[in-house]
Amino acid sequence: MAVIGAGPAGAATAIQAARGGARVTVFEKASPGRDKVCGDGLTPRAVAALGELGVDLAGAHRIDGLRMIAGNTRRELLWPANNRFGPHGAVWPRRALDRHLVEAATEAGAEIVWDTEVMPALADDGTVVGVESLTRGERWQADLVVLATGAPGAAARMLGAERVDSEPFGLAIRTYAPSPRHGDRHLEACLTLRGAEGGWVPGYGWMFPAGDGTVNIGVGSMSTMKGFRRLNLNQLLNDYRELVAAEWELGDYLERPRAWRLPMSAVRRHGPGWAAVGDAAGLINPMNGEGIDYGLESGMLLADLFMDDPAGAPGAYDRVIGERFDGFLRTGRRFSFLIGHPWILRNGLRLAVGTQAVANITLQVMGNLIDGDTPGAASRVLSVADRGLKLADPLLRRTRAAA
Ligand SMILES: Cc1cc2nc3c(=O)[nH]c(=O)nc-3n(C[C@H](O)[C@H](O)[C@H](O)COP(=O)(O)OP(=O)(O)OC[C@H]3O[C@@H](n4cnc5c(N)ncnc54)[C@H](O)[C@@H]3O)c2cc1C
Repeated sequence: MAVIGAGPAGAATAIQAARGGARVTVFEKASPGRDKVCGDGLTPRAVAALGELGVDLAGAHRIDGLRMIAGNTRRELLWPANNRFGPHGAVWPRRALDRHLVEAATEAGAEIVWDTEVMPALADDGTVVGVESLTRGERWQADLVVLATGAPGAAARMLGAERVDSEPFGLAIRTYAPSPRHGDRHLEACLTLRGAEGGWVPGYGWMFPAGDGTVNIGVGSMSTMKGFRRLNLNQLLNDYRELVAAEWELGDYLERPRAWRLPMSAVRRHGPGWAAVGDAAGLINPMNGEGIDYGLESGMLLADLFMDDPAGAPGAYDRVIGERFDGFLRTGRRFSFLIGHPWILRNGLRLAVGTQAVANITLQVMGNLIDGDTPGAASRVLSVADRGLKLADPLLRRTRAAA
């Protein structure tokens, strides 16, 4: 198996496949110690996936819940008690998390080839038969090529694994700053962001305490925002910083803020000889921007199916991953069209954080933390929202606020 990309999705695939006895080579264009622009937030869902991979979370900062802020309303929420993933979230700066994952892959027997950008190598009939480095002029054969390349780039374009043009995506920016509150045990999200022109932003600003003297501070928006093309993320981040600086006693930024894309759909995520995992497959939760967990889960699933039946794995993976996530992700994308309308966003937020009980449901729904075995209020809310959004979807898209 050849894996392109050593982020969480590629590393999880490699760990699981190598532990199962496969010969795995991971190709990564960056150098050892690579970083990834991210909020570093791990929900209980992601912590459970790391547990499944046997990753020791001792180095991560434990998080017990979410502080949801909308205007003057603040809701301090614990992770839902009945979520099937447990009560434990975390913040783990990506440089450290990703290093741990790559080390686990190496320990499992996978080979990591750094500083090597590769592209899928195709047979005449279009089947992917391995990978090739254009600069090194080398070619490696593989019975499965795993596209774990993150937000779509050249390799994904070559295989048609691009974002669906008509579907929404996210953009976000983050940096780190020192704060005496770095040991806070809640993620903080401010849902009432306004752009420079006063427009409501369908997204949020975050303070994710890392427990190491710093916090990860960032802002993100969905592409369904009115005036999205004119949105200046640096400006939005600085405005958000002003809002939180005193309360968090924030020091100067420790690095230049950096932005990146959050893909939330894919035209295609498998084909003969290949399958895409993580961001390359568009697997990011449109309701909260979480992608690490979906990268880990999709990677593990693909590796398991590959061990069962290498040739049938791409097709089986596409089907099973679709059953697990497509419905939820589709609802999330529809939801993002809905909140792209400023009036709906403003009034919807009032409702979403109106009481502690409703805010808890909001957290469960948006975090995809619903326990399917013991459905409760959150599950009912999601299924009603699902049906409502399905009916409203054509209208919401026609009247989309983006300009
Ligand atoms: C600002 C921001 C904040 C975010 N916050 C959070 C958060 O708090 N929690 C969360 O869960 N998610 C968050 N996300 C999303 C999360 O970062 C991604 O979903 C996650 O990194 C996806 O992992 P991945 O392994 O699919 O891709 P990546 O982590 O992007 O890894 C892909 C790797 O592939 C390599 N690569 C690409 N092309 C090639 C090639 N041709 N050859 C060799 N190597 C290649 C790249 O160098 C990279 O190392 C955030 C995203 C952004 C932009």
